[in-house]
Amino acid sequence: MQLGLSAADLDFQAEVRDLIGRAFSSDAPYDGSREHDRRWHAAMAERGWEISKWPTAFGGPGWSATQHFIWERETTAAGLPAQVGGMGLGMLAPILFAYGTPEQQARFLPDIRANRVHWCQGYSEPEAGSDLAALRTRATLEGDHYVVEGEKIWTSGAHLADWIFCLTRTSQEGKKQEGITFLLIDMRAPGVSVHPIISIDGRHMFNRVTFEGVRTSVANRVGREGEGWTVAKGLLTHERTGQAYVSLSLSLLARLRDAAASVPGAHGGSLLEDPGFSSRLSLAAIELEALAMTELRTLSEVAMGEAPGTQSSMLKLKGTDIVQRMTEFFVECAGPYAAPWFPEVAGPPEQIGPDWAQPEVVRYLEGRAASIAGGSDEIQRNIIAKHVLRL
Ligand SMILES: Cc1cc2nc3c(=O)[nH]c(=O)nc-3n(C[C@H](O)[C@H](O)[C@H](O)COP(=O)(O)OP(=O)(O)OC[C@H]3O[C@@H](n4cnc5c(N)ncnc54)[C@H](O)[C@@H]3O)c2cc1C
Repeated sequence: MQLGLSAADLDFQAEVRDLIGRAFSSDAPYDGSREHDRRWHAAMAERGWEISKWPTAFGGPGWSATQHFIWERETTAAGLPAQVGGMGLGMLAPILFAYGTPEQQARFLPDIRANRVHWCQGYSEPEAGSDLAALRTRATLEGDHYVVEGEKIWTSGAHLADWIFCLTRTSQEGKKQEGITFLLIDMRAPGVSVHPIISIDGRHMFNRVTFEGVRTSVANRVGREGEGWTVAKGLLTHERTGQAYVSLSLSLLARLRDAAASVPGAHGGSLLEDPGFSSRLSLAAIELEALAMTELRTLSEVAMGEAPGTQSSMLKLKGTDIVQRMTEFFVECAGPYAAPWFPEVAGPPEQIGPDWAQPEVVRYLEGRAASIAGGSDEIQRNIIAKHVLRL
C-alpha cells in the first residue's frame, strides 16, 4: 500500500531506517534474544522512542498517527518488535496513567520504561475466560494488606515476570462486575507459584499461577476497591487496538509472494500463478488494505486524545482473521515440508525443505491463538453487535 507521505514524514521514515540500520545489519539481524532486545531498547531509548505510545505528559514523543504507522511498518519490515517492554509498557502503563496514584506512577513507570521490571497479566481463570467477571480469585482486606487466594490461567510470560497485575474478587455483593479489584502483586511474594503449560508449537509461554495466602499492600491497588472492572475494560481496548497485526500481515504478504513464486503450482508454473491460490491471496491483500485504513483512522482518533473505543474489537477480529489466513497460505506454500514439524519431539527438528518452511509452520501454529487471546472472535462479534451496531 502506498501512503502519500509529506516531506516531514519522509524525513521521519529516513530517521527510523537510520536508527534500525545502526542497531542491526541485514547480515546480523535481530534474533529475538534478550541481548538483542536490550540493544534495540537502548537504541530506541536514545531518541525517547522506547515509549512511543505514551502520552507526552508521561514523556512520550507525541508522534502523529502517520508517524506511528511508519514506525510499525518499518520495524516490522526489519523483523523488529515495535516496542520492547511487553505488558508493562503497552498494557499496564496506560492504566497507571489513567487510574494510578502519583506514588504508583513514580514507583512503577520508570522501571517499565527502562525495561527493568517485567509484568504479566492475571485475568483469566479456569472458569472465567470469556466470562471474565465470573472470576473467583479472592482478595480479603486485612489491615493495610490484601490477602489473595486463588488461581489464574493462560498467564503469558508469568515464568519471566517480576510482577503481575491481577483482577481479584473483593465482594460477592451486587452484580458480579461490581466486586472486582485491580491489584499489583510481586511475583516473589510468598505463596505465588508458577506452573508451566506447553502450547501446540512446543514452546513454554503459558502458565497457571496460584496464590496461597499472598499478601500485597493496599498501596498496590489501582483504582478504588470494586472499581477493577472499569480499570480492566480500559486496558482491554488498548490490548485489542494493538492486535490488528497490520504491519505483520503486510510483511508476511510480501514474503508470501516470494515463497509462492518459488514453489510449483498444480497446473504448471509457480503456485503464485495458480489462479485459485492467487485470487484468494489477492482477496486477502485487498481486505488487508481496508484494515490498514481502518487502523489509521483509529490511530488518528487516539492521537487526538480519544480512547480507542469499541472499534478496537473490529480491528482485532478482522486483523486476526487476515494474519491467520497469511499463515495458512504459508503452510500451503510449504506443502509436504510443513509436515516434519513435531514439537513434541525433543530438540530442534531436522531442517528439510526451504528455510522459511519450518519457522512459518511454527508461526501458523502459534497464530491459532490469536482468535482467542485478548477476547475470542465470538466475544468481539458480541461487542460489535451490541456497542457498534446497537443490535
Ligand atoms: C495466546 C494467548 C495468550 C493469553 N495470555 C493471557 C494472559 O497473559 N493473561 C490472561 O489473563 N489470559 C490470557 N489468555 C487467556 C484468554 O484471555 C482466554 O483464553 C480468553 O479470554 C477465552 O477464555 P477461555 O480460554 O476460558 O475460553 P472460554 O471462555 O471457555 O470460551 C470457549 C469458547 O466458547 C465461546 N464463547 C464463550 N462465551 C461466549 C459467548 N457469550 N457468546 C459466544 N461464544 C462464546 C468462545 O468464543 C470460545 O470459542 C491468553 C490466551 C491466549 C490464547
